[in-house]
Amino acid sequence: MTDRYAVIGNPIAQSKSPLIHGLYAQATGQDIDYGKIEGPLGPGGFAQAVDAFRAEGGRGLNITAPFKLDAFAYATERSQRAELAGAANAMTFDGERVVADNFDGVGLVRDVTRNLAVPMTGRRVLVLGAGGAARGALLPFLAERPAELVIANRDVDKARELARIGAAEGGSVAACGYADLAGQRFDLVFNATSASLRAERPPVPAGVFAASALAYELAYGKGLTPFLRLARESGVERIADGVGMLAEQAAEAFLWWRGVRPDTADVIRTLTVPLV
Ligand code: NDP
Repeated sequence: MTDRYAVIGNPIAQSKSPLIHGLYAQATGQDIDYGKIEGPLGPGGFAQAVDAFRAEGGRGLNITAPFKLDAFAYATERSQRAELAGAANAMTFDGERVVADNFDGVGLVRDVTRNLAVPMTGRRVLVLGAGGAARGALLPFLAERPAELVIANRDVDKARELARIGAAEGGSVAACGYADLAGQRFDLVFNATSASLRAERPPVPAGVFAASALAYELAYGKGLTPFLRLARESGVERIADGVGMLAEQAAEAFLWWRGVRPDTADVIRTLTVPLV
């Protein structure tokens, strides 16, 4: 029997996950059916939708905004990554067991270090934003042993909270506001704010990009976002958006569910929107 999977979010029409998992299934010869579910936004709506999917025999879900915290709460078991992120982007069902994981951070690191071939070890890394995506990236980033990891956020308390989590895991993370970035330069700068989704830019000083820096926009499919434009205008040659992160986190979930890791190159090529 064909195993059923889906992505749940709200809105969900824009999701590329069915296309991505369909291509992975084709390439690996896996017999799966992957759909999309618009989760109801009211109280209990997420749990009801997941209950129904499980009752129909669903094997696993990807979770996108705004349900990553609900998925974390729904699970009966959570990976350490999900625990530390406080959020889940994938679940698998096995009878009464619901196991949650979070592949966003590992997907991002894989895209940067393998696909883009930009090492993080020994480099100065700046993360803009302290929401769910930054949280998920925290430990995978620390595992790469950067020389420095700085998290800047408008609400500095949220950045401090991530710095505390990092310290509790034995890593060194500095938290600051945007004004504190003046005069500092970084080798890798990640825009993990949601500003680009509204065609806005976090108030980052143009001088934060070191010569030969990588500027990475976590949002995808938006072309040259205001953040990437600033990077380019500052002379940065290496810019990327989050399409590779999307493809890599999906590949990690696919591996987790099916035991085979699909190659991501074709999916990245298919989904890439030129950065102009
Ligand atoms: P959250 O809503 O959890 O966090 C939003 C963050 O953005 C907060 O730190 C907030 O700061 C900051 N922010 C919002 N607007 C601005 C602004 N105008 N200026 C400065 N800071 C701002 O979002 P997520 O962490 O879930 O998502 C962040 C980004 O990552 C999105 O673009 C999303 O599309 C992308 N993403 C990409 C994925 C991929 O696979 N490529 C996967 C997951 C996310 P404050 O706390 O001060 O309000």
